[in-house]
Amino acid sequence: MPANFESAIAHIKSLYPDEEFIPLHEPKFIGREKEYVADAIESTFVSSVGAYVNKFEGMMADLTGAKFAVATVNGTAALHMALLVAGVKQGEEIISQALTFVATANAISYIGAIPVFVDVDMDTLGMSAEKLQDFLSSHCELRNGFTYNKVSGRRVAACVPMHSFGFPCKIDEIAAICAEWNIALVEDAAESLGSYYKGKHTGVFGQLGTFSFNGNKTITCGGGGAIVTDDEDLAKLARHLTTQAKVPHAWEFNHDMIGYNYRMPNLNAAMACAQLEQLPRFVENKRELAGLYRDFFSSVGIAFQTETADAQANYWLNVLLMQDRGERDAFLEVTNKSGVMTRPAWTLMHKLPMFRDAQHDGLQNSLWIEDRLVNIPSSVRIA
Ligand SMILES: *Cc1c(COP(=O)(O)O)cnc(C)c1O
Repeated sequence: MPANFESAIAHIKSLYPDEEFIPLHEPKFIGREKEYVADAIESTFVSSVGAYVNKFEGMMADLTGAKFAVATVNGTAALHMALLVAGVKQGEEIISQALTFVATANAISYIGAIPVFVDVDMDTLGMSAEKLQDFLSSHCELRNGFTYNKVSGRRVAACVPMHSFGFPCKIDEIAAICAEWNIALVEDAAESLGSYYKGKHTGVFGQLGTFSFNGNKTITCGGGGAIVTDDEDLAKLARHLTTQAKVPHAWEFNHDMIGYNYRMPNLNAAMACAQLEQLPRFVENKRELAGLYRDFFSSVGIAFQTETADAQANYWLNVLLMQDRGERDAFLEVTNKSGVMTRPAWTLMHKLPMFRDAQHDGLQNSLWIEDRLVNIPSSVRIA
């Protein structure tokens, strides 16, 4: 085993001394989770109506600075609903990135929309504003105020950048490009709760942003998600659609649209409130860990990804970039064998059978990153 692999394993183990097998990201329930969940049970409101759902939505709006938040059953549902209320229609195109978790591309497909993948930036690992502009300029045209793909003839209705592993992408530049081309901007901020770009929380730069509270995210409520927006009409529509589009009435059961059972249950919201109270100290702790990793890995000659000058990242999952695919695989092999969980990047979306025919821009950086990226243990280190 190369000497720097050996010392990397020893270093990671020294940072998590109490773990026999060090997971990639485990949740921490060290706040008022049990108290709030017990309270929700006491109240008998455990399902999709209840005080904690409203409270959680208020807390999410406060945290992000968005005017409205709508709590959903998970992040995938949040993205599906955000794209629907953004006005994307079946057969239209949505530009996203190939370096993302499959949920991003799946949500696009739920609408019957077609994903198009552009490359990411090396310094943020998120959608490249430059590549987005290049793609639009070379393959698209504005007609009657809307953008059409000249290759497919379809309307480009939305853009979904993702803040990979919690590192904010250059979202202000992407927002300006989307405005210029009249494309709805929906941020997949599933991984970037507690991450800021130029002082603003991620998820609030476009029409809508979405979050996830799955078990492996920075905070979790078992399963959960949220949509944030400044647009009251969009927030109302999202709330309506996630609750079976039921028309409010004292006793009548009437529905005016095809709705979804996508609202976050109160039981999960109770847990989500308690977890969100912990977010500042979780993020502080994760940033401290990233600092220790940065110092260590620079001393052994392994590239460690850091935030850009404009960004404050939550360091959800810490990122190493190995020399090549061979070194990546060797590192993944020895770490996992040694009880240190590590993981490569997701297989790029255009390589998956469902998205094999998707148009893309060559994805030069994405392919380079896919060959080299390794996620290392990143759990909060508070007992
Ligand atoms: C986790 C995640 C989601 C989906 O969230 P769920 O709550 O698991 O449905 C969506 N997009 C990205 C990029 C994610 O990492």
